[in-house]
Amino acid sequence: MKLILLGPPGAGKGTQAQFISEKYGVPQVSTGDMLRAAIRAGSELGLKVKDIMESGALVSDELIIALVKERIQQPDCANGFLLDGFPRTIPQAQALMDAGVSIDFVIEISVDDEQIVSRLSGRRVHEGSGRVYHIEHNPPATPDMDDITGEPLIQRKDDREDTIRNRLSVYHSQTEPLVKFYNDLADSGEQSPIFKSIDGLGLLDEVKSRIVCALG
Ligand code: ADP
Ligand code: ADP
Repeated sequence: MKLILLGPPGAGKGTQAQFISEKYGVPQVSTGDMLRAAIRAGSELGLKVKDIMESGALVSDELIIALVKERIQQPDCANGFLLDGFPRTIPQAQALMDAGVSIDFVIEISVDDEQIVSRLSGRRVHEGSGRVYHIEHNPPATPDMDDITGEPLIQRKDDREDTIRNRLSVYHSQTEPLVKFYNDLADSGEQSPIFKSIDGLGLLDEVKSRIVCALG
């Protein structure tokens, strides 16, 4: 199964991706996690993208397309993958099609802007794995500690309110047009992915069930 999770920052893509990836046995390909790993490693890529990511802007299509193309050619992606955070622009979606990658499902998780601000400002993450928590809605068993490793959780630098607003505006101008793009594509022919939009509000488990239902 090849799947794209679409939606604004904070919609719950990473949270649900972890679950889908386990249930359907496909790797989660998160461009945000890959870029943050590059920053931590101090690689050339990391140095290039650090300031851009902290500002909430998007890194260049060219760079991110090369990164994803390389990643999905790895053996663990042979039976499918889940794209979390890619594509984020029309040229990225087009590049995927031009490369002959046939996607089975595009699931949009829809959440309004005010809810996003509250979700992102309460988000805490385990840096090493990308595991995601929320101080109220999905807290770790021990405050500020990862459930699996016991290591401390961090707050991402781009999860500050001013940067969140900037990311939301980037989402509306550059990523939201993909909803129409995939909707139109789904209407147009046999080879195209199935497009479903689901409500991202509610308990984590409720959103999970909606996704399973959409994939059914
Ligand atoms: P979130 O989980 O909040 O949606 P991500 O972790 O997916 O955010 O992305 C964090 C940042 O990484 C983005 O703000 C952007 O700078 C960069 N990024 C991630 N994926 C892409 C992409 N497909 N195209 C351009 N920039 C990206
Ligand atoms: P994205 O990958 O789309 O940026 P995340 O999965 O990182 O989103 O979720 C953003 C924040 O919202 C996290 O703190 C997460 O724990 C929380 N969250 C995810 N799903 C829900 C939900 N259904 N209700 C409330 N909070 C949620």
